[in-house]
Amino acid sequence: MYDKTLAELSSGLRSGAFSAVELAEHFLARTERFHTQLNCLISVSPELAMARAADADRQRAEGDSRPLLGIPLMHKDIFCTEGVKTSCGSKMLDNFVAPYESTVSRKLKEAGTVMLGKTNMDEFAMGSSNETSYYGPVRNPWDTDCVPGGSSGGSAAAVAARLAPAATGTDTGGSIRQPASLCNVTGLKPTYGRVSRYGMIAFASSLDQAGPMAATAEDCALLLAAMAGFDPADSTSLDRPVPDYQSTLTNSIKGLKIGLPKSFFSTGLNSAIAQVIETALSEYRQAGAELVEVDLPHMHLSVPVYYVVAPAECSSNLSRYDGVRYGHRADSPKDLEDLFKRSRDEGFGAEVKRRVMIGTYALSAGYYDAYYRKAQQIRRLISEDFRQAFEKVDVIMGPTSPTTAFKIGEKTDDPVSMYLSDIYTIAVNLAGLPGISIPAGMLNGLPVGLQIIGNYFDEGRLLNAAHQYQLLTDWHKKIPEAFC
Ligand code: GLN
Repeated sequence: MYDKTLAELSSGLRSGAFSAVELAEHFLARTERFHTQLNCLISVSPELAMARAADADRQRAEGDSRPLLGIPLMHKDIFCTEGVKTSCGSKMLDNFVAPYESTVSRKLKEAGTVMLGKTNMDEFAMGSSNETSYYGPVRNPWDTDCVPGGSSGGSAAAVAARLAPAATGTDTGGSIRQPASLCNVTGLKPTYGRVSRYGMIAFASSLDQAGPMAATAEDCALLLAAMAGFDPADSTSLDRPVPDYQSTLTNSIKGLKIGLPKSFFSTGLNSAIAQVIETALSEYRQAGAELVEVDLPHMHLSVPVYYVVAPAECSSNLSRYDGVRYGHRADSPKDLEDLFKRSRDEGFGAEVKRRVMIGTYALSAGYYDAYYRKAQQIRRLISEDFRQAFEKVDVIMGPTSPTTAFKIGEKTDDPVSMYLSDIYTIAVNLAGLPGISIPAGMLNGLPVGLQIIGNYFDEGRLLNAAHQYQLLTDWHKKIPEAFC
C-alpha cells in the first residue's frame, strides 16, 4: 500500500479496497518501524490518528466521498495543532501544546485527512539541512549519512520513505522545494497569499508560505485544493477563488513557453546537475514545449537581499518569545531583564540567535537605510525581472538546488555555503511567486529536482506542467530500497 500515490489511495478508499483505519494502521506501522532511523518526526499521534480514521470510515459509510477523506498525512511541526505539541523544532517551544488549530491543518482536517504526527524541521524553519533542529538532524532516506535538505526536511524524508503519502511544508526561501529536490518528492510553494498563514509559526512574514509535499503533482493538486483559499484571520491572504487544479492537469503542454534564465545555467551550476536538467528540458521540448532564454539580471542579488529581509522580519517575529507568556522560561530569574535574557539564551539555538542579531542590526537606527531599505529596493527589482520574463514565457525552469544532498556536518561550520543552497529558490519567495520542485533524475544514487516557477496564482499551470512530465517519466516513483 505504501508505494501508492495519494490519488491511488483515494480511489482505493472509494472502491472499498481498504478502509481508512487499515490505511492509518499501515502507515503508523511503517512510521513505528522507520522513523527513529530517519529522526523525521517530533511527535507521533497514533490514538488521534486512529480516532480520525474511524470517523472517516463512518463518514464514508454515510455517503461522503471527498477525495481526501481518510488520507493519512503528517504536518510540519510549525503548524499549530490543537492539543498536540507544536515545537517549531525549538527548545523554546518544547513545552508548547497549541491551544488552537492553524488554518492549514484545520482545512485539511475538515477535508477528512488523518494526521499521523508532526515532522521534524530546522529550528523556526531557519536552515537548509535540518541540522538546526533542537531534536537533532533528520536523515535522508536515500543516504542516511546525508541531510534531507531543510527546513521541511522531516516532511520530505517522511514522504520519500513513504511513512506517509503526503505532508505539509512551509517555504520562506526554498524550504519546500529544496528538501523535495534532495529527497525525490514533489513539493509546491504556492503564490504568497494563496494559503493562509494563520496558526503557522512566523519566521519571515512577507516570505512564509505553506504548501503540499507528496509523491506526485496530482497529489499536490488534491492537497492544494483543500489548503488554499481566503482566510479572514490572515490579513495577507488573498480573496480569489480556488481553481479546480485537478481538471487542468491533463491540459496539453504543446506550445507551452518555457523560460530558461541565463543566470540559472551559468558557471557555478554543477555540470552533472546541469546535465540532468537538460535531459528533463528535452522531455518538454519533445512534448511540444518551446524553450526560450530569459534574463533575470538581479538574480545574483537574491541571496544577499534575503539574508537582510528574512533576519529583519525574524528578529521582530521572535521577540515574542520572552519567557513570560508561553514557551521556555529560565529558572529562578534575578529580575525581569534576567528572565528575558536567559529564557532566550537557553531557548534558542545558534542559527536562530545569529539571525536575530543580524536582523536587529539591519533594522537599527543608522543602518536601516543602508541595509533594510536597500534590500527592499532590490527586492522590487527582482520582482520586476520576473514580471518582464513572464511577458514572454508561461513558466520558468531550472534546477531547484545547486547540489544533491550533502553529508551531515559538511556545511554546519560555514553558514554562507549553507545559505547558498537556496540560490535558485530564494528569488521566488522575494517576488511572492509560486514554484514547484519535481523529481528529475539521480546522481550517484541521490535525487535531483527540476524547479518550475510560475506567474502569480498560476499554480494550476505549474501542476499541469509537472503532471505531464510525470506521465512521461518515472523518477517520482522511485523509493529508496531500504524503505521498500
Ligand atoms: N534555507 C533558508 C533559510 O535558512 C530558507 C528557509 C525556509 O524556506 N524556511 O532561511
